[in-house]
Amino acid sequence: MRHPSEGFPADPIAAKQAIFDYCKKRGALAVGVADLAALERIAPPGHRPTDLMPRVKSVISLGVGGQTQGAWQLPAKAMAYSGSTEVRGYTVAYGCAFFIEQKFGAPSVYVPPDIDPESGPRVPLQSLKLHAEIAGIGARSFAGDILLHPQFGFMYYASVFTELELPPDQPMAENPCPAPSCVSMYRSIGRTPCMKFCPAQCLSGEIDDAGKQKSSRYDMAACAELTQEYEAVPKILAEAVRDENRSHGADRLLDPDSKMLWYKVSAGSGGWFAQCFECMRVCPIATQAPQADPILRTEEARSAAANKP
Ligand code: SF4
Ligand code: SF4
Repeated sequence: MRHPSEGFPADPIAAKQAIFDYCKKRGALAVGVADLAALERIAPPGHRPTDLMPRVKSVISLGVGGQTQGAWQLPAKAMAYSGSTEVRGYTVAYGCAFFIEQKFGAPSVYVPPDIDPESGPRVPLQSLKLHAEIAGIGARSFAGDILLHPQFGFMYYASVFTELELPPDQPMAENPCPAPSCVSMYRSIGRTPCMKFCPAQCLSGEIDDAGKQKSSRYDMAACAELTQEYEAVPKILAEAVRDENRSHGADRLLDPDSKMLWYKVSAGSGGWFAQCFECMRVCPIATQAPQADPILRTEEARSAAANKP
């Protein structure tokens, strides 16, 4: 086995291109390499890339497209089942780690998108969002820091750590949020569409004279209460135990809301969280960016082909 100090026999620029080609061929819309030193500086202790993979040299971030155009017509209650595409992103990242090991012999790993078992239910092992932001494939929006891309709108992100050294990319120079129409709404009512239509009213912020983000506030607890249903389970079980002691029954486990949770458990993890898409449903970048959905992407590809000399 090659010792890490011996390095890996790959031209970094050609290797980066081969990795990007692999990811795009398998469905990624955007791929970038984050500056490792910046991540190490910004991420809190315990959540830096080297805390997970001590010999990591590069952090690759990729984004896959969000919903189909048709999905935005579904009522909120149905979006949990067909609104998310994150599993596609994880599959591409998983394959990418295998691809790098096979092609370049460099130890690599798909970064688990999961919460840190030692830090409670709202702290991830790694911030995939930070990886993507530093890699230049998304910028923080007013909608709870959801990343937006000027071309692809709302994407789901996944990351790969590798010992292969790759040249890093830069964060985006311009943030597409707020969109011009959001600035107009803010000037008129003091809120942007995501702030206005968030059912938990957990978003607020200010836009400066130049139409850029000045300050942004996101009440994560209020959003999580509505969207992260797994957090309700301990409460339901505690109430059921109390009920069992008091009345020799545990009816709370069988009420209609609880039964829906048990259904979602058996239907798969996607139904457990990200129940709410309302901030993105009204976001002009998420829904109308030039390549935000398969219809728009196909139209753009067709017109690019027609305009070729
Ligand atoms: S996901 Fe829903 S609750 Fe959370 S910020 Fe967006 S609109 Fe608000
Ligand atoms: S609706 Fe979208 S673009 Fe407009 S402020 Fe909210 S997140 Fe930004």
